[in-house]
Amino acid sequence: MKHNTFNAKVVNKMQLKLPSLSVNEGMARAAAAAFVSQLDPTATELADIKCAVSEAVTNCIVHGYRDTVGNVRMTVKLCQGRIVRIEISDKGCGIADVKQARQPLFTTDAAGERSGMGFTVMESFTDGVRVSSKPGRGTTVTMVKVLSELELDT
Ligand code: ATP
Ligand code: MG
Repeated sequence: MKHNTFNAKVVNKMQLKLPSLSVNEGMARAAAAAFVSQLDPTATELADIKCAVSEAVTNCIVHGYRDTVGNVRMTVKLCQGRIVRIEISDKGCGIADVKQARQPLFTTDAAGERSGMGFTVMESFTDGVRVSSKPGRGTTVTMVKVLSELELDT
């Protein structure tokens, strides 16, 4: 990963604020895809972005706000160099140990419904993931995806 992808110059951006209802996960995913479409990403790149957004938003809904409803915010920034930067945040419970939370198969879900693979999916479908979190304050996940160069029609 190029080390400047997280602070590349922003050319266009979109912000969304939704209550943490599971019905809104699909909305966030579709909105991110629709906005990124202006850069003509490949179908695979678009699918990767949707998948990563889905995991991050689901985490806000099911973990961040667990038994309450709060706001989930998503900012999608299109940056120079065909870099897409997506920030997804909640003001929920936060994560005590981010390093541990990011380990594959780590989950705090006691019901056994979750596999603990959300962060791993975000990492594998993007070009970089940063997590900042404070217990009691909330969590922000920032993901960058570098889109391939456009192929010129001949
Ligand atoms: P899966 O994503 O496979 O359904 P999971 O959500 O438990 O399972 P991850 O997405 O990798 O797995 O997250 C790991 C753990 O990090 C979660 O179990 C939870 O404890 C914590 N976590 C992740 N996102 C948040 C968040 N927004 N707020 C609070 N805790 C979070
Ligand atoms: Mg998850």
